[in-house]
Amino acid sequence: MQFFGHIIDGEEVPSVDGATFEVWNPWTQEVWATAAEGGPEDAALAVASSRRAFDEGPWPRMGRAARAAAIHRLADLMEERADDLATLDTTNMAKPFAQAQHDVARSIWNFRFFADHQRDHCGEVFPMDSGHHSYSEYGPAGVVAAISPWNFPLMMATWKIAPAIAWGNTCIIKPSEDTPASVTLLGRLAIEAGFPPGVLNVLNGHGSPAGSSLTADDRVDRVTFTGSSTTGKTVMASASSHLAPVSLELGGKGANIVFEDADLDNAVHWAVEAIFRNSGQICLAGSRLFVASSVYDEFMDRFVAAAEALTIGDPFDPKTRFSSLASKKHFEKVSSYVDGVGLDGGKILTGGVDDEGRWLIRPTIVTDLPLTASAYCDEIFGPVCVVNRFESEEEVVSLANDTRYGLNAMLFTENLSRAHRVASQLRAGTVWVNCFFIRDLRTPFGGVGDSGVGREGGNFSREFFTEPKAVVMQIQR
Ligand code: NAD
Repeated sequence: MQFFGHIIDGEEVPSVDGATFEVWNPWTQEVWATAAEGGPEDAALAVASSRRAFDEGPWPRMGRAARAAAIHRLADLMEERADDLATLDTTNMAKPFAQAQHDVARSIWNFRFFADHQRDHCGEVFPMDSGHHSYSEYGPAGVVAAISPWNFPLMMATWKIAPAIAWGNTCIIKPSEDTPASVTLLGRLAIEAGFPPGVLNVLNGHGSPAGSSLTADDRVDRVTFTGSSTTGKTVMASASSHLAPVSLELGGKGANIVFEDADLDNAVHWAVEAIFRNSGQICLAGSRLFVASSVYDEFMDRFVAAAEALTIGDPFDPKTRFSSLASKKHFEKVSSYVDGVGLDGGKILTGGVDDEGRWLIRPTIVTDLPLTASAYCDEIFGPVCVVNRFESEEEVVSLANDTRYGLNAMLFTENLSRAHRVASQLRAGTVWVNCFFIRDLRTPFGGVGDSGVGREGGNFSREFFTEPKAVVMQIQR
């Protein structure tokens, strides 16, 4: 059985008290590994190590080109071990292997992008009429605590680690207790790449006490968190005790709007991806689908057929497009929403809870739910799409914005003016027009309302992971 320790100060170590927890394979429903269960003492050791690495070590001082080279070395090692990293994510959460490979490629890109971004960046110069000029300098902020979820175990972690370390900070990552494997391998690769001890520490364990010990530690200068809105509020409260700035990337209930003039083949393709990719365990899922009345019947026939055509099975089988949920606990949560649909007056057109004992919810499409039903309002975080029809643009914008979340939205139309007009009216951090899930790492990423606080990506990550400084200089007397 494999063991995943903490990576602290350049070494893989067990917990101080020797505690461990079980790591499950949700497809086989077996324990396949154990991991170190981090407690307050382990968290304190990890923070002390990253603090030392920041205050005394070479990383923040080594210069941008040298730091970029070190990060590219890590990315090279990830490329060499890409299939091992993908195998760990697939084993750990039943993500179809091709999707896990895609996540690894994107994780490598996170490192390469931010390594180059910090190396090539310029500050600003502000000429002043008074005979002075001012310029801005972006220095590293210090020790970063990063906490990540289980749905994209490697990708979400690297989305935080990459900009943090690229900008000269040191970082402690706490992966989800459900998926410790790939991030621990990443920590081992950082040692192999020659990272100075403490630049990247991995603390395994549960939200409390491992995660909460990090967020409450006043030696931590930044807290970056991806996870549920409820936990995000706890994390923010904890970090506020020592005024550490927080970046929160939280849940969503994305609206997906199909107008009557949409290219229906394209709209059906993306509607399926948006809610059934990763078994619907995507913060950006298009879980509330609105279809124009005039194309509703045609769209729904095709959408239901496409959902039913998804090959369900073993996540390592290359034919598989859809597999089980990431854990028994999560399966029980999603099942309870599916069970509630009928009680709330909704109709399940296709899908439902698996009847073969797997932790699986089949691709599920629901109609006729009241707009107050919990399956309509809450983030289910599973393969459950709630569909409604609409008559007018005004009506659908109002429906789409009527949510406490605001992470993303999609709209499908061939009318250019409508695309721009509606995109600007939607209350969401990202709006996709005629597509889904496409990212440019320079753009802002984040959400409004219960979907989060702050933005990451490109210069937005720079703002968060640095302490911008103004230098004012007299040039004329
Ligand atoms: P979660 O909030 O349960 O856990 C996320 C992480 O927080 C885990 O590592 C967990 O151990 C840790 N944690 C839990 N309690 C903590 C505490 N008190 N202090 C510090 N850390 C704590 O979320 P999850 O179930 O792992 O992930 C699913 C959620 O993540 C969904 O809501 C999803 O929408 C969201 N998500 C958001 C984005 C985004 O970019 N906005 C991306 C992926 C997932």
